[in-house]
Amino acid sequence: MLNEFSLISRYFSRHEKSPDAAILGVGDDCALLAPRPGRVLAISTDMLVEDRHFFAGADARALGHKTLAVNLSDLAAMGAAARAFTLALALPSIDEAWLEAFSDGLYALADRSGCELIGGDTTKGPLTLCVTVFGDVEATRALRRDAAAPGDDIWISGTLGDARLALGGLREEWPLTPEDLATARRAMDWPEPRLALGAALAGVAHAALDISDGLAGDVLHILERSNAGARIDLDALPRSAILANQPAMIQRQCTVAGGDDYELCFTAPVTARDAVLAAGASCRVPVTRVGTITAFDTRADEARIVWTDGDGKPVPLALRGFDHFDD
Ligand code: ADP
Ligand code: MG
Repeated sequence: MLNEFSLISRYFSRHEKSPDAAILGVGDDCALLAPRPGRVLAISTDMLVEDRHFFAGADARALGHKTLAVNLSDLAAMGAAARAFTLALALPSIDEAWLEAFSDGLYALADRSGCELIGGDTTKGPLTLCVTVFGDVEATRALRRDAAAPGDDIWISGTLGDARLALGGLREEWPLTPEDLATARRAMDWPEPRLALGAALAGVAHAALDISDGLAGDVLHILERSNAGARIDLDALPRSAILANQPAMIQRQCTVAGGDDYELCFTAPVTARDAVLAAGASCRVPVTRVGTITAFDTRADEARIVWTDGDGKPVPLALRGFDHFDD
């Protein structure tokens, strides 16, 4: 039977040899990571809790992937390059088949993202998976939430809403064919962090964030930090062919108030349109222009976001983003 330390050494301590690797990784009191000249650290933490962020019994390999993916997505949204991560785990028991699959999913994404596991903590408890990622970026090129300017275009990477579509299918909020559910589930279980796109946008885009709790709620974070408003065209929101075949209300709910998308929402000046399209093309990620940042007067009694249809006609919308304390 494995104990805490043999578990760590079997599943979570591979040695890295790349020139960018940490000076010291798993096994000491701290890891040692050398800052790269001219860059600042970008640090973020995200936690996944059973029954809150994933169903009990969820596929362990997919969980390993997603635990790291949601954190890398935050680095992507900052325009930062991934360097290293720590992993804090609470496990109800030592299940070797589960650990093997979890660690495989985790390392597969870590290896192809150039992100090294350098430490963590392991304890017994209700299944909880917490990663802290360390990346770096040139300070002046970081994509901060407070940097949107009136007149900027608003862009979205990839497509929105498939993870929410899958969740609704699993909860039987709406019917889905088994094939459509399987396809939408891939978006929910295997989100792809947009690291290459984020890095290509650093220095081109103004503000960015990753959409984890639904566009409507997340875009507000940029608007509040930037003291701005927005006009967003609901019909322009990019969606998969599967979602585009659903009734209009489901499409709207999934694209606007979904969650678990891990796409980037970013703003860029109109003069940067070609550069944004080139950034998307260079990393083979579609980028879609969906709206405009507007001047916003906090004293005026107006909505921060004006949602419109494709003709620019305002559409009233009561949907909002996901809140973890809303039961
Ligand atoms: P400490 O007593 O200093 O908290 P631990 O005994 O918790 O250290 O951990 C021993 C070593 O193993 C440390 O280097 C720690 O970073 C690492 N570690 C613990 N759990 C994990 C994990 N789940 N993944 C990677 N490294 C881990
Ligand atoms: Mg410890």
